[in-house]
Amino acid sequence: MTPRGLIRTVIVMIEAQHLTKRYGDKFAVNDISFSVEPGVVTGFLGPNGAGKSTTMRMILGLDRPTSGDVVVNGRRYRDMTAPLREIGTLLDARAVEPGRTAANHLLWLAHSNGISARRVQEVLVTVGLADVADSRAGTFSLGMNQRLGIAAALLGDPPVLMFDEPINGLDPDGIIWIRNIMKSLAAEGRTVFLSSHLMSEMAQTADHLIVIARGRIIATGSVDEIVSANATPSVTVRSSDPDTLNERLVHAGAVTVRGLDGELSVSGLSSAVIGSIAHRADIPLTELSTHGASLEDAFLELTHESTDYRATVGASTGA
Ligand code: ADP
Repeated sequence: MTPRGLIRTVIVMIEAQHLTKRYGDKFAVNDISFSVEPGVVTGFLGPNGAGKSTTMRMILGLDRPTSGDVVVNGRRYRDMTAPLREIGTLLDARAVEPGRTAANHLLWLAHSNGISARRVQEVLVTVGLADVADSRAGTFSLGMNQRLGIAAALLGDPPVLMFDEPINGLDPDGIIWIRNIMKSLAAEGRTVFLSSHLMSEMAQTADHLIVIARGRIIATGSVDEIVSANATPSVTVRSSDPDTLNERLVHAGAVTVRGLDGELSVSGLSSAVIGSIAHRADIPLTELSTHGASLEDAFLELTHESTDYRATVGASTGA
């Protein structure tokens, strides 16, 4: 137990304050403040065009904020003397000279940052590329390029790691590998910040989420917190008399959606209450099943005023 009066200090590794980036009269990022802390995977979730890359580019000093500020370990990126030792990043896995071998690419980076050649061998092993260290990056699959990019990010053994859409375009094995390495880097006590527009993937990978849409942060919290605050579970019910049952359920305050073959998807009432309403109406049920709410449901609820986000979410999840 924390002794009375002792204040626990949280070390904030990435901290943005009122960060804003405007292009002409369009806000790519609009007055966002957030912190990314060590020891957990923090997901930066939002549809394409939400402002994720722009935020990450401002963290790295590649884009200058219109207003506001962002620091890593208390310092702006451009003020760091050895940035690779403070923050490792992967913004674009394809940004590797294709004629260079994996080992040479890393040796060149290591050399220019005063990092030993031994460390290159270590990171090649960590990402599973030791066997292809002497192959040219141009012959690599996207998944292998992602691994090479992560190896480069790890070179300086930095406490903070940041990856922009690392899951994009990977096969299922690659996705599981990325998920596991993110979790193990966080378990080592590092700050791990990754962006994605893929909600189901983020739900499985991130411990903490910062949800962004149209340049603004619309929710922060654990996946469970965001889902339970913004989406309700639904109950699927089938019966011999869907019309009467629907009438009774709506009368009791439910929101229902009619499906095929008389199926009703019901929210706002528990399965126990639905069961007893059906019983009182003498309507036999052939199915009564509860479905937990998903991050997709929560995201749609959070962005319900915007029809273009519905289209984006549907397109990205195949929903
Ligand atoms: P995300 O990474 O979430 O897909 P981005 O940060 O790339 O989103 O983009 C956010 C918004 O800012 C988009 O509408 C995009 O078109 C716009 N944007 C990004 N970079 C520029 C730029 N250099 N000039 C003009 N608009 C830009």
